[in-house]
Amino acid sequence: MAAAPSPIRMSEEPIQMPTACPPDCKAWHNPSVAASLLGVSRRTIYRLMADGEIQWRRRRWGRAITHEEIRRYQSERARIAE
Ligand SMILES: [Zn+2]
Repeated sequence: MAAAPSPIRMSEEPIQMPTACPPDCKAWHNPSVAASLLGVSRRTIYRLMADGEIQWRRRRWGRAITHEEIRRYQSERARIAE
């Protein structure tokens, strides 16, 4: 039996959805967004930042990671997984 497509849940609060990023997104993202883009927990993101696996900068609003850096890590991780 085929799985039914997951229903789109309407959120009452505006959240920054990763899917809202353009393919060539060059924005800075906070660790929460970076975590959802990579499909990992926020805890993992903080560990990766601490380990220097993901480069980040401090911004006025907190830690920031470029989408480019997220993509770089993603492709690197995919290479390691091979
Ligand atoms: Zn982005």
